[in-house]
Amino acid sequence: MEKLVCVVCGMEINDKNYNFNKEAFLNPNKMENIEYCPFCGAPKQYLQVDGKEYDYDRSSLDDEALKIIDHAVKLEIFNGDFYKKASVLAKSEEIKKIFEALSRVEYMHARIHKKIGNFKEDPVLRNMDYSQYSSDDILLEMACKREKHAVEYYERYSGEISDSNIRKVFAVLSDVEEEHIELTGKK
Ligand SMILES: [Zn+2]
Repeated sequence: MEKLVCVVCGMEINDKNYNFNKEAFLNPNKMENIEYCPFCGAPKQYLQVDGKEYDYDRSSLDDEALKIIDHAVKLEIFNGDFYKKASVLAKSEEIKKIFEALSRVEYMHARIHKKIGNFKEDPVLRNMDYSQYSSDDILLEMACKREKHAVEYYERYSGEISDSNIRKVFAVLSDVEEEHIELTGKK
C-alpha cells in the first residue's frame, strides 16, 4: 500500500500499522481499504500520500483560545487514563482490548492538542480510582458518558477558535468521539 500521512496527528500509515487500534473502530481498516487513521481516528480524507501535518497559526491564539486547548489536553488525558484503568478492571477480554485501544486514541488526541497549543509538559491530574465500577456494563456506561461530554466540549468551544485548521481538528476529533459513543453504547 501507499504510505499515507495523517494531516491531523502527523503519523505515517503503512502496511505494518494500518490495523493498529482496530478494536477502537466500528469498521476497522483493511489493507485494501483504509478508512481511518489508526492512531487518532481521522477519516480518510485527512490521510494523504506525502501529506504534511497541519500547521497552526499560534499567533492567532489568545489567552481564551489557549485555555480552551489546555482544557482539551486535560480532557483527553483524563479519558485516556480512565480507559487505561478500565482496561485493567474489565472482566471480558474483548472489552479490555477495546478500552486499551480507546486509551491510546485518546492519548493521541491529547498529543495533538499539546502540539496545537505548543505545550511542552503533560498536565498533572489527580490520580483517580475507578475500582468502584464493579462490572463491565458500568465501565461501558461511564465510558459512554465521557465520550458524550467530550463531544459537547468540542461543539461548545470550537466556535471560539479563529484558526480554521484548529476548528477542523476539533470537528474531526468530535466525530471520532461520536463513534466511541456508538462503540461503547452498543456493547
Ligand atoms: Zn491521525
